[in-house]
Amino acid sequence: MSWRISLNSIERARRVIRIGDGVPQVGTLAFGIVDRGTNVIEVRPTTLCPLSCIYCSVNAGPNSTNRWAEFVVEPAALLGALEEVVRFKGIDDVEVHIDGMGEPGVYPYLVDLVRGARSIRGVSRVTMQTRLYMLSEDDLRKLASAGLDRINLSIDSLNPELARKIAGAPWYDVDRVKELVAKALEFGINVVASPVWLPGINDNDVVEIIRWARDAGLGRGELPPVLIQKYIPHKRGRKVKVRVMTWGEFWSRLRSLERELGVRLTATNEELNIHKAPQLPKPYSVDEVVKVDIVSRGLIKGEFLGIIQPLKGSVISDRVISVIADPRLENVLIGAQVRVRIIENSDNIYIGKLI
Ligand code: SF4
Repeated sequence: MSWRISLNSIERARRVIRIGDGVPQVGTLAFGIVDRGTNVIEVRPTTLCPLSCIYCSVNAGPNSTNRWAEFVVEPAALLGALEEVVRFKGIDDVEVHIDGMGEPGVYPYLVDLVRGARSIRGVSRVTMQTRLYMLSEDDLRKLASAGLDRINLSIDSLNPELARKIAGAPWYDVDRVKELVAKALEFGINVVASPVWLPGINDNDVVEIIRWARDAGLGRGELPPVLIQKYIPHKRGRKVKVRVMTWGEFWSRLRSLERELGVRLTATNEELNIHKAPQLPKPYSVDEVVKVDIVSRGLIKGEFLGIIQPLKGSVISDRVISVIADPRLENVLIGAQVRVRIIENSDNIYIGKLI
């Protein structure tokens, strides 16, 4: 069993939808661009993921219990929209952060995406969240020369057996990941480890990760080698039966680990160069009724992907929307134009209901 076989099993079980030029790139968390009003623009090329992490907040991978489709975006569509958003922001220190509701390491056009993003005027940094395992040394060499600046590495244990258990994948090999980290650093890509701390499951492992990351030179002295994430159960995500730490407990345990190990484990927004920047306007408000062309299934069963009409041909004003409807209506809805009431539009992520 390999990660490719795992991916094939998803492709057989769910509909894989290719998103091209005709679909706006803003409006969903599943793909495209998410702008939260800072200089960091989230770019989401795919929802596919061959792992099934036990805590996955977006319920991805072969063990997903709620997905009925997956998305892969054409790089030209993504880059065209990204260029427009960067221009709109009007700043010269945009960080393009490749992440999403899947594993960017399996996106087939990753190198093109990084190269294209890095060449946009105003983009000063390209970073990516990944488990790294799915990339080869050759991929890393190409990503380095395409301009990838940093990898935020998802890694939760150095113990091969526990690492496989947490990743929900019998083929996942954390020793291989460590080799790839060394290669990434050698090729000039910085790496920062970002383990999810699951109290009672990987407490000692988090300490081991910090020691390893420090000794292997992660962060390169520019950033802490490890930025630990607190486990937070999400409504639609997979949940782990652990005692959830309060934020107060989490920060105080980080501070005592910092003292004990002599390693800094937090970074300020200044160090990470994250600051406010113009946010894309919200062209539609909550409770507004809009005309929507339904084009495909949405990510989650019972959701459909729609395009709000009329289109203006610009990322500033065109939006996709996730429309909640009975999945049994699939044959009637896809290809139809419907009226939808918007129920959510935070950060330009649109959710609506059929009326
Ligand atoms: S946490 Fe990330 S790598 Fe793990 S299943 Fe979810 S999307 Fe995949």
